[in-house]
Amino acid sequence: MKTRNRIVFLGTAGGRITTFRLVRRSGGFLIDLEGVRVQVDPGPGAFVYLKELGLDYRSIDLIVLSHIHLDHTADVNTLIEACTDGGRRKDLSLFCPRSAVEGEDRVVLPYLLKRLKCVEYLEEGSDLRCGSLKVRAVMRHTHHGAETYGLSFNDRVVYMTCGRYEERMIDMYPENPELLIINTTFYRKREGIDHLSVEEIKEFLKVKRPERTVITHFSMEMHGRDPEKVALDLSRETGLEVISAKDGMVLDLN
Ligand SMILES: [Zn+2]
Ligand SMILES: [Zn+2]
Repeated sequence: MKTRNRIVFLGTAGGRITTFRLVRRSGGFLIDLEGVRVQVDPGPGAFVYLKELGLDYRSIDLIVLSHIHLDHTADVNTLIEACTDGGRRKDLSLFCPRSAVEGEDRVVLPYLLKRLKCVEYLEEGSDLRCGSLKVRAVMRHTHHGAETYGLSFNDRVVYMTCGRYEERMIDMYPENPELLIINTTFYRKREGIDHLSVEEIKEFLKVKRPERTVITHFSMEMHGRDPEKVALDLSRETGLEVISAKDGMVLDLN
Protein backbone atom coordinates (compact mmCIF):
# COMPACT_ATOMS: atom_id res chain seq x y z
CA MET A 1 0.00 0.00 0.00
CA LYS A 2 1.32 3.40 -0.97
CA THR A 3 -0.04 5.29 1.94
CA ARG A 4 -2.94 5.41 4.34
CA ASN A 5 -6.43 5.85 2.93
CA ARG A 6 -7.12 9.56 2.76
CA ILE A 7 -8.37 12.48 0.71
CA VAL A 8 -6.46 15.70 0.13
CA PHE A 9 -8.63 18.65 -0.88
CA LEU A 10 -6.37 20.76 -3.07
CA GLY A 11 -8.92 23.53 -3.36
CA THR A 12 -12.48 24.48 -2.45
CA ALA A 13 -13.51 27.10 -5.01
CA GLY A 14 -16.57 26.79 -7.21
CA GLY A 15 -18.07 29.26 -9.62
CA ARG A 16 -16.33 31.89 -11.63
CA ILE A 17 -15.38 34.48 -9.05
CA THR A 18 -13.99 32.32 -6.24
CA THR A 19 -12.11 30.21 -8.79
CA PHE A 20 -10.80 32.73 -11.28
CA ARG A 21 -10.06 35.57 -8.89
CA LEU A 22 -8.35 32.97 -6.74
CA VAL A 23 -10.41 33.82 -3.67
CA ARG A 24 -10.04 30.16 -2.79
CA ARG A 25 -7.80 27.55 -4.31
CA SER A 26 -9.09 25.14 -6.89
CA GLY A 27 -7.66 21.88 -8.24
CA GLY A 28 -10.05 19.14 -7.12
CA PHE A 29 -8.91 16.44 -4.72
CA LEU A 30 -6.52 13.53 -4.44
CA ILE A 31 -7.69 10.17 -3.10
CA ASP A 32 -5.47 7.43 -1.74
CA LEU A 33 -7.70 4.40 -1.47
CA GLU A 34 -6.69 0.78 -1.07
CA GLY A 35 -3.31 1.29 -2.69
CA VAL A 36 -4.48 3.37 -5.66
CA ARG A 37 -3.76 7.10 -5.96
CA VAL A 38 -6.29 9.13 -7.93
CA GLN A 39 -6.45 12.79 -8.86
CA VAL A 40 -10.07 13.85 -9.33
CA ASP A 41 -10.99 17.00 -11.30
CA PRO A 42 -7.56 18.67 -11.62
CA GLY A 43 -8.69 22.27 -11.89
CA PRO A 44 -6.39 25.31 -12.05
CA GLY A 45 -3.44 24.98 -9.70
CA ALA A 46 -3.55 21.21 -9.12
CA PHE A 47 -0.07 20.83 -10.61
CA VAL A 48 1.41 23.38 -8.21
CA TYR A 49 -0.58 22.38 -5.11
CA LEU A 50 0.35 18.69 -5.42
CA LYS A 51 4.02 19.70 -5.46
CA GLU A 52 3.54 22.01 -2.48
CA LEU A 53 2.10 19.07 -0.56
CA GLY A 54 5.21 17.04 -1.33
CA LEU A 55 3.40 14.56 -3.57
CA ASP A 56 5.30 12.87 -6.37
CA TYR A 57 3.34 13.16 -9.63
CA ARG A 58 4.74 9.80 -10.72
CA SER A 59 2.90 8.10 -7.84
CA ILE A 60 -0.50 8.95 -9.36
CA ASP A 61 -2.18 5.95 -11.00
CA LEU A 62 -5.37 7.50 -12.32
CA ILE A 63 -6.92 10.84 -13.27
CA VAL A 64 -10.72 11.11 -13.19
CA LEU A 65 -12.70 13.98 -14.72
CA SER A 66 -16.36 14.45 -13.75
CA HIS A 67 -16.91 16.91 -16.64
CA ILE A 68 -15.04 19.23 -18.98
CA HIS A 69 -15.48 22.63 -17.29
CA LEU A 70 -12.25 24.50 -16.76
CA ASP A 71 -12.49 24.60 -12.96
CA HIS A 72 -12.37 20.77 -13.10
CA THR A 73 -9.88 20.18 -15.92
CA ALA A 74 -7.49 23.14 -16.36
CA ASP A 75 -4.42 21.15 -15.26
CA VAL A 76 -5.28 17.78 -16.78
CA ASN A 77 -2.77 18.08 -19.63
CA THR A 78 0.02 19.31 -17.38
CA LEU A 79 -0.65 16.42 -15.03
CA ILE A 80 -0.65 13.83 -17.82
CA GLU A 81 2.80 15.09 -18.75
CA ALA A 82 3.97 15.20 -15.11
CA CYS A 83 2.45 11.89 -13.95
CA THR A 84 3.86 9.99 -16.91
CA ASP A 85 7.22 11.70 -16.50
CA GLY A 86 6.98 13.04 -20.03
CA GLY A 87 5.92 9.68 -21.41
CA ARG A 88 8.55 7.55 -19.67
CA ARG A 89 6.03 6.04 -17.25
CA LYS A 90 3.36 3.94 -18.95
CA ASP A 91 0.89 3.26 -16.15
CA LEU A 92 -1.33 6.34 -15.88
CA SER A 93 -5.01 5.83 -16.70
CA LEU A 94 -7.70 8.40 -17.45
CA PHE A 95 -11.42 7.93 -16.75
CA CYS A 96 -13.60 10.72 -18.12
CA PRO A 97 -16.70 11.54 -20.12
CA ARG A 98 -16.27 10.87 -23.82
CA SER A 99 -16.68 14.62 -24.41
CA ALA A 100 -13.37 15.27 -22.63
CA VAL A 101 -11.45 13.44 -25.35
CA GLU A 102 -13.63 13.55 -28.46
CA GLY A 103 -15.56 16.35 -30.13
CA GLU A 104 -14.91 20.04 -30.51
CA ASP A 105 -15.06 20.86 -26.77
CA ARG A 106 -12.47 18.23 -25.85
CA VAL A 107 -10.06 19.27 -23.12
CA VAL A 108 -7.40 16.55 -23.28
CA LEU A 109 -4.79 17.34 -25.90
CA PRO A 110 -4.88 14.60 -28.54
CA TYR A 111 -1.10 14.22 -28.72
CA LEU A 112 -0.97 13.34 -25.01
CA LEU A 113 -3.33 10.37 -25.31
CA LYS A 114 -0.50 8.09 -26.35
CA ARG A 115 1.16 8.75 -22.99
CA LEU A 116 -1.71 6.99 -21.20
CA LYS A 117 -2.03 3.34 -20.34
CA CYS A 118 -5.73 3.58 -21.05
CA VAL A 119 -8.58 6.04 -21.52
CA GLU A 120 -12.00 4.76 -20.45
CA TYR A 121 -15.29 6.57 -20.72
CA LEU A 122 -17.73 7.07 -17.89
CA GLU A 123 -21.37 6.23 -18.59
CA GLU A 124 -24.21 6.25 -16.11
CA GLY A 125 -24.14 3.00 -14.12
CA SER A 126 -20.81 1.83 -15.52
CA ASP A 127 -17.99 0.48 -13.35
CA LEU A 128 -14.42 1.12 -14.44
CA ARG A 129 -11.45 -0.54 -12.77
CA CYS A 130 -7.92 0.59 -12.04
CA GLY A 131 -6.10 -2.04 -9.97
CA SER A 132 -8.00 -2.53 -6.73
CA LEU A 133 -10.12 0.56 -7.35
CA LYS A 134 -13.60 0.55 -8.81
CA VAL A 135 -14.93 3.85 -10.11
CA ARG A 136 -18.67 3.92 -10.69
CA ALA A 137 -20.46 6.63 -12.67
CA VAL A 138 -23.37 6.79 -10.25
CA MET A 139 -25.52 9.21 -12.19
CA ARG A 140 -25.40 11.59 -15.11
CA HIS A 141 -26.09 15.10 -13.81
CA THR A 142 -27.79 17.97 -15.57
CA HIS A 143 -25.12 20.64 -15.67
CA HIS A 144 -25.30 23.43 -18.23
CA GLY A 145 -25.15 21.06 -21.18
CA ALA A 146 -21.88 19.40 -20.13
CA GLU A 147 -21.70 15.61 -19.91
CA THR A 148 -21.27 15.28 -16.13
CA TYR A 149 -21.12 12.28 -13.80
CA GLY A 150 -21.42 11.84 -10.05
CA LEU A 151 -18.93 9.19 -8.99
CA SER A 152 -18.21 6.61 -6.34
CA PHE A 153 -14.89 5.03 -5.44
CA ASN A 154 -15.00 1.45 -4.16
CA ASP A 155 -18.55 2.15 -2.93
CA ARG A 156 -16.91 4.00 -0.04
CA VAL A 157 -16.28 7.55 -1.19
CA VAL A 158 -19.08 9.21 -3.15
CA TYR A 159 -18.55 12.44 -5.08
CA MET A 160 -21.63 14.43 -5.96
CA THR A 161 -20.11 16.81 -8.47
CA CYS A 162 -21.70 19.94 -9.93
CA GLY A 163 -25.23 19.74 -11.25
CA ARG A 164 -28.85 20.69 -10.83
CA TYR A 165 -30.63 19.03 -7.91
CA GLU A 166 -32.94 16.30 -9.22
CA GLU A 167 -35.32 13.99 -7.37
CA ARG A 168 -33.67 11.09 -9.19
CA MET A 169 -30.57 11.62 -7.06
CA ILE A 170 -32.38 10.02 -4.14
CA ASP A 171 -32.83 6.81 -6.16
CA MET A 172 -29.47 6.78 -7.85
CA TYR A 173 -27.01 7.61 -5.06
CA PRO A 174 -26.06 4.89 -2.54
CA GLU A 175 -27.20 4.85 1.10
CA ASN A 176 -24.80 5.35 4.02
CA PRO A 177 -21.53 5.91 2.19
CA GLU A 178 -18.45 6.20 4.36
CA LEU A 179 -17.82 9.65 2.90
CA LEU A 180 -19.91 11.91 0.71
CA ILE A 181 -18.29 14.91 -0.99
CA ILE A 182 -20.86 17.39 -2.29
CA ASN A 183 -20.24 20.39 -4.51
CA THR A 184 -22.61 22.74 -2.71
CA THR A 185 -21.78 25.79 -4.76
CA PHE A 186 -24.67 27.85 -3.40
CA TYR A 187 -26.53 28.20 -0.16
CA ARG A 188 -29.82 29.20 -1.75
CA LYS A 189 -31.38 27.38 -4.67
CA ARG A 190 -31.16 29.46 -7.86
CA GLU A 191 -33.59 28.98 -10.69
CA GLY A 192 -31.93 28.29 -14.03
CA ILE A 193 -28.50 27.60 -12.56
CA ASP A 194 -27.42 23.97 -12.62
CA HIS A 195 -25.59 23.85 -9.29
CA LEU A 196 -26.41 22.24 -5.98
CA SER A 197 -27.35 24.33 -2.97
CA VAL A 198 -27.30 23.67 0.75
CA GLU A 199 -31.07 24.16 0.90
CA GLU A 200 -31.60 21.39 -1.65
CA ILE A 201 -29.25 18.79 -0.20
CA LYS A 202 -30.63 18.80 3.37
CA GLU A 203 -33.37 16.27 2.60
CA PHE A 204 -30.94 14.21 0.54
CA LEU A 205 -28.59 13.95 3.53
CA LYS A 206 -31.40 12.99 5.90
CA VAL A 207 -32.41 10.14 3.57
CA LYS A 208 -28.93 8.91 2.57
CA ARG A 209 -27.28 9.31 5.99
CA PRO A 210 -23.61 9.30 5.00
CA GLU A 211 -21.19 8.53 7.84
CA ARG A 212 -19.41 11.78 7.00
CA THR A 213 -20.18 14.55 4.54
CA VAL A 214 -17.81 17.17 3.16
CA ILE A 215 -19.21 20.27 1.49
CA THR A 216 -16.96 22.07 -0.99
CA HIS A 217 -16.81 23.98 -4.32
CA PHE A 218 -17.96 27.26 -2.82
CA SER A 219 -19.25 30.31 -4.67
CA MET A 220 -18.84 33.81 -3.28
CA GLU A 221 -22.25 33.43 -1.67
CA MET A 222 -21.09 30.37 0.32
CA HIS A 223 -17.68 31.91 0.94
CA GLY A 224 -19.40 34.96 2.44
CA ARG A 225 -21.64 32.85 4.65
CA ASP A 226 -18.68 31.06 6.22
CA PRO A 227 -18.83 27.40 5.14
CA GLU A 228 -17.72 26.25 8.58
CA LYS A 229 -20.81 27.75 10.13
CA VAL A 230 -22.98 26.32 7.34
CA ALA A 231 -21.51 22.85 7.99
CA LEU A 232 -22.17 23.20 11.71
CA ASP A 233 -25.79 24.20 11.09
CA LEU A 234 -26.21 21.28 8.68
CA SER A 235 -24.81 18.90 11.29
CA ARG A 236 -27.30 20.16 13.86
CA GLU A 237 -30.25 19.96 11.50
CA THR A 238 -29.50 16.51 10.11
CA GLY A 239 -27.83 14.88 13.13
CA LEU A 240 -24.97 13.88 10.83
CA GLU A 241 -21.28 14.75 10.70
CA VAL A 242 -20.84 17.51 8.11
CA ILE A 243 -17.46 19.16 7.49
CA SER A 244 -16.61 22.12 5.27
CA ALA A 245 -13.54 21.52 3.13
CA LYS A 246 -10.58 23.86 3.50
CA ASP A 247 -7.85 24.42 0.95
CA GLY A 248 -5.23 21.74 1.59
CA MET A 249 -7.36 19.81 4.09
CA VAL A 250 -6.40 16.16 4.58
CA LEU A 251 -9.13 13.78 5.67
CA ASP A 252 -8.21 10.29 6.81
CA LEU A 253 -10.40 7.36 5.83
CA ASN A 254 -10.58 3.98 7.55
ZN1 LIG B 1 -19.11 22.62 -14.15
ZN1 LIG C 1 -17.66 23.12 -11.00
